[in-house]
Parts: sequence; structure tokens; C-alpha cells
Amino acid sequence: MEYRTLANGLKMPLLGFGVFQVDDLKQCEQAIKDAIKVGYRLLDTAMTYHNESAVGKAVRESGVPRSEFFVTTKAWISDMGEERTQAAFNQSLAELGLDYIDLYLLHMPLGDYYGAWRALEQLYREGKVKAIGVSNFTAAQLIDLKYNCEIVPMVNQIEHHPHYQRVPEVELMQEMGIQVEAWAPFAEGMHGMFTEPVLERIAAKHLKTVAQVILRWNLEAGIVVIPKSVRPERMAENFAVFDFALDDEDKKLIATLDKHKASMLDLSVPSEVHRLYSYLENPVVTSLS
Ligand code: NAP
Repeated sequence: MEYRTLANGLKMPLLGFGVFQVDDLKQCEQAIKDAIKVGYRLLDTAMTYHNESAVGKAVRESGVPRSEFFVTTKAWISDMGEERTQAAFNQSLAELGLDYIDLYLLHMPLGDYYGAWRALEQLYREGKVKAIGVSNFTAAQLIDLKYNCEIVPMVNQIEHHPHYQRVPEVELMQEMGIQVEAWAPFAEGMHGMFTEPVLERIAAKHLKTVAQVILRWNLEAGIVVIPKSVRPERMAENFAVFDFALDDEDKKLIATLDKHKASMLDLSVPSEVHRLYSYLENPVVTSLS
């Protein structure tokens, strides 16, 4: 495994494994157990995925030392605010059945996320979490947060894939010392991601698959990436990305696929914000798209 070093010196695996939309707990536990066998150690869940208990159980029963894992979970928008976020963290820790969390994120820049951030700073100082960060924040929101906080977020987990490359934003975050982490690296297969001719040609050239090319492209940009799959053969495929390299021509071609537009989640669209708040009435978030 290769690692990125966060602003506080913590090592974060470059490649991880996500379990969004794996809300059957047995299936989630099995998926995590399979992923651990393949070699994944960065595991990404969230309170709103309703599967933290399965993730924690698989980690605890794995026989792999806890210190090898990098467990991430996130506070949902219903839990923003200093006291509520503190309580949500304790609930996540209990669901996971772990003594600490490696990375705790604010899931969305909605609600009282300044109060929530102060709770994360406190949890970090108390040693209950090894690193703190945010998700789905724009570069402008990060700059504003930076002017109003004591600890700058160490990570921003954002939608990032060949159709939505966010080059200036990523550069800015990198300049700010904030590790970029790509969610939905395949855009969940939407808009023909797996059959993009450019990606198919690059994959054929390297005797790799389109999924592997996409993951490799993230790794080479220093972006942590967390594909999801419930199929062991795809978990293994997605893990086999450390034995080839993209060349400049490949990267130039991939750059042409940028649509400069979110495929999954655009928080500048009013109906998207309403939709996320509507999950408060129906709390199982099954799709962000
Ligand atoms: P994704 O990883 O882009 O795509 C997952 C989809 O691709 C699944 O349908 C999976 O199917 C399929 N797939 C996986 N590997 C494949 C391969 N090698 N070939 C063909 N198909 C493949 O989407 P995602 O799950 O939305 O994103 C990944 C993780 O990011 C999530 O699990 C979650 O941890 C995180 N996330 C965070 C946010 C946020 O707001 N912070 C939002 C969304 C996601 P099978 O499972 O059937 O293999």
C-alpha cells in the first residue's frame, strides 16, 4: 500500500474501500471481511449509511491489529452543532465498537457546521480521533472555515471522477495542505463511465480495466480514492493498481473527459439541498444522485 501524509503527520492509505448503499448489515459485514482479505485497510462509512456496526464488527473480528486500519465515519446534517456533533461522534464510536476513529468527517456543509467543527477540534485534542476533516466542501467554504477555526481540516472528501475533475479546486486544497479524497470514483457507473472509449483505449494499452485506469489516475494525482464493490473479484481488481503507470498522453486524454459538472451531487442546486434535508424525515440515505 502507498500512503499520503496528512497535515498532522498521520499516514492515510491512498486506496480504500467504501460501503455507501450497502445497508444490509450481513452483506456489509461480509463485504468488509472480503475487502480486508484482499488487503484494504482504509474503510469508509458514515452514520447515515446505517452500517457502522457491521464495519466495526468485521474490523474487530478480522484478526488484523486495530492499528493497521484507517476507519473513517461521518456526522450527518441532522447532527451539526457543537453538542449534537459530540453526541453523534459518541454514537458512531459505540456503533463501531472501537476505542477511537481514525478520521471523522462532517458529511456536508449544511446546518451549523462551524459549531460541529469546534466539536471535531475538541475530539481531536482529546485523542478520540486521529484526524478530522470535511466532505463536500467547496474550496471557498474551506477558506472561510480556515479563517474561523483553530485546526484546518486535514481531509476533504469530494465527488471526483473523470467526468468531474475539479482541477482548480483540487489544486487549491493541495496548496492549503488539505488531502483530497475522491468519492464515487466511477460515478457509480453512471453516464457510461465504464464504457468511455478513451478510458477503454488506455485500459487496453496497459492490459488493465477501465476501473483500474480511473483508480490509478487518482493515485498518481495524490488523491485518496475509495471505490465500493460488494463483489470480491471487483475488490481484487480495484486493488491491483500499483503495478502500472499512466503516461502523459493518457493523462492528457483523460483531461478531455471533464464535463466540469457534478454527476452525483451539486449543493448549489436548491432542490438538492431540499432533498438532503428530506432525508431527516426518512433517514436511510440510499442515493445521493
Ligand atoms: P463508486 O465507487 O463510484 O461506484 C460503485 C459502483 O461501481 C457499484 O455499483 C459497484 O457495483 C460498481 N463497481 C465497483 N467496482 C467495479 C469494477 N471494477 N467494475 C465494474 N463495476 C464496479 O460509487 P460510491 O459507492 O458512491 O462511492 C464510493 C464510496 O465513496 C462510497 O461507498 C462511500 O464510502 C463514499 N461516498 C461518500 C459520499 C460523501 O458524500 N462523502 C458520497 C458517496 C459516496 P458492485 O458493488 O455490484 O460491484
